[in-house]
Amino acid sequence: MNSPYRLTKTRAIILFTLMLLGAFLLISWSSYEVARQSLNNEIEENTLPLTSDNVYSEIQQDLLRPIFVSSLMAHDTFVRDWVLDHEKDPNAMIRYLSEIDRRFDTIFSFFVSDKTDRYYDPKRVLETVSEKVRRDQWYFQAKSLPADKSYFIDVRLDPEDHARLDIFVNYKVQDYQGNFIGLTGIGISVEKIKALIEKYEQRYNRVIYFVDKSGQVVLHGQSFKRAMNIRQQPGIGPLTTSILTVPGGSYQYRDQGRQVLLNTRLLPEFDWYLMVEQRDHPLQRVLYMTLLKNLGIGAAVSVVFLLLLWLTIGGYQRRLEHMATTDKLTGVMNRQAFELRFLLFQRRRGSLLTGTPVALAIIDIDHFKPINDYHGHGIGDRVIQHIAGIIQTSLRRTDSLCRWGGDEFLVLMPDCDSVQALARMATLSALIEQSPLIFDNKTIPVTVSCGVAEHQGKEGVDALMNRADIALYQAKQRGRNRAEKWED
Ligand code: GH3
Ligand code: MG
Repeated sequence: MNSPYRLTKTRAIILFTLMLLGAFLLISWSSYEVARQSLNNEIEENTLPLTSDNVYSEIQQDLLRPIFVSSLMAHDTFVRDWVLDHEKDPNAMIRYLSEIDRRFDTIFSFFVSDKTDRYYDPKRVLETVSEKVRRDQWYFQAKSLPADKSYFIDVRLDPEDHARLDIFVNYKVQDYQGNFIGLTGIGISVEKIKALIEKYEQRYNRVIYFVDKSGQVVLHGQSFKRAMNIRQQPGIGPLTTSILTVPGGSYQYRDQGRQVLLNTRLLPEFDWYLMVEQRDHPLQRVLYMTLLKNLGIGAAVSVVFLLLLWLTIGGYQRRLEHMATTDKLTGVMNRQAFELRFLLFQRRRGSLLTGTPVALAIIDIDHFKPINDYHGHGIGDRVIQHIAGIIQTSLRRTDSLCRWGGDEFLVLMPDCDSVQALARMATLSALIEQSPLIFDNKTIPVTVSCGVAEHQGKEGVDALMNRADIALYQAKQRGRNRAEKWED
């Protein structure tokens, strides 16, 4: 009888659990997503471009200086006049180059004459460049630059210290009519720029590096441990073409399951892109922890709520069950519960095919109407309760007692044939006769009549009751205060 209720209860609890957890999950996740998105937007639109601007302007100074110095040298009237004057005094050029090195703190300055192919630098004097020599190719490359390009930049390993990169600016020198007469320029070490990159990487918790127009990484900090062309880098690879075809932008990609925000910016003088990347913003972790905390709180609240719900539903269920199955006046089983009990009993009996007898007794109070009429309905109720109490004391654990209605009770007695049942009912009626209701110093004598019948075959409760009722009628007929059993 409990099982269908319990099933409904379990189903209701599961439904509530799913709804509650779903709601918590949805709220926590959506607020996390909103916060994450706005943080990402903030990083993408403000923080990252700002860092990029800072790095750009700081690094730009150091990167552009050699271009300015080279441009200054290429336009210096001394240089041009000296070449046009047939390079008469080599020492004058050497002094000039030494002075440039001293003045601008460059590591290296040079001049190559187009007319004589002579190569001047502050230390080594008067070597010549030749188109046939491989290591002189940079000169011929610069010489053949298109007319609208005045310089080109070369990033090379330092010939003396292979761990060190140098940047060379090669600037075209023209005479006053615009004819190419030589190449000048300086070389600087990129150590200072690398140190700057590292400083910014640490300060802003970013990855900063430069790539050229082919995606090749040209400058980076010490901790950079990735493929040297961004096309080969996971996540960013597919974005390479779009990155390298615009002057700058903001991008998002995923690398090893982590989101990376990227800001790019072209340095037109170098044709390099400054790349500033943001991984794992500290606030992202805070957001994630908040999400976990919210989910934890949600789960805890759900558990407490569901526990309370379980107990409340259980309480209500038990009360409803009690109300639906119990007679209010006497507290014994009511008619509906008895019918259900009988059906269960019948089903069990059918499946077990047990041959043990079962008897049913109907107990009816004798002349109950006059009791009601004489003492009042309230006392009548007391009498009904009194009789129910006495019957209960005489029951075995396996017997079932029911108040069928009015002044009538039923007792279902398993493992009991009609003869035994009759004897038990005779004893019971004698006991009731000897136990009047004593109330307000009044003694109200009460007797009952009982009709007994034994269950036959597969008959239903109606047929069995009908036979017991016939027996009861006989008991009433034979003078009441007695028990009779049904006879064929
Ligand atoms: P009999 O010996 O033939 O049984 O006579 P009786 O007077 O007991 O007749 P019957 O059993 O037919 O009467 C039952 C009466 O019980 C009728 C009704 O007024 C009364 N009654 C039914 N339910 C209640 C109840 O809940 N409380 C009270 N006080 N009386 C009830
Ligand atoms: Mg009666």
